[in-house]
Amino acid sequence: MQKQRSPVQPQGLYGELMAHAAGSPNDELFAQMIASQIDGIGALPPGLGLAEQDFSALLARHFPGAELVIRNAGQTEDPRALERDDVLALLIEHRAYRDSSEAWMAEIVTAACMASDHLWQDLGLRSRDYLGKLMTQNFPSLAAKNVHDMKWKKFIYKQLCEKEGINACRAPTCEYCADYLNCFGPEE
Ligand code: SF4
Repeated sequence: MQKQRSPVQPQGLYGELMAHAAGSPNDELFAQMIASQIDGIGALPPGLGLAEQDFSALLARHFPGAELVIRNAGQTEDPRALERDDVLALLIEHRAYRDSSEAWMAEIVTAACMASDHLWQDLGLRSRDYLGKLMTQNFPSLAAKNVHDMKWKKFIYKQLCEKEGINACRAPTCEYCADYLNCFGPEE
């Protein structure tokens, strides 16, 4: 990965990106994720898991004039390709169709779902609240289904199971389930 940046600003790369923000939906969320990824926070790969040309397009659209060059690792065979496809399809099915960046966001969230921490942490967001904003803004009909504030990664995978008619839960209702804290406990 190669970075080209001007002298460090008070908020580092995040501040630099936001100084160039286009005023589009998702600018701030993308800035958090890019800065975190470069600082080694979270689990997203270089380029947030996007193809190199897509990441360049994202930078040009959301942070025009910002200079940042990232070389993505080459494509390797993905043993979880089917799972990725399912998560991506679920997100795309629920995209808001208010802004084209929702398609990039769907790919980025899918990449973070492959990691093992809480989703907001894997995305490199500053708090869980930003993930709530991300989901509501980009995938509103999916976010609206999470009425009990389930942990987001658990919630996404539960939607996939329900789509397939699979009930992987060990209890008939969440209220009496021994795994309740796994699904609904604090995401810290
Ligand atoms: S709390 Fe139990 S029943 Fe509810 S979604 Fe989680 S595993 Fe399923």
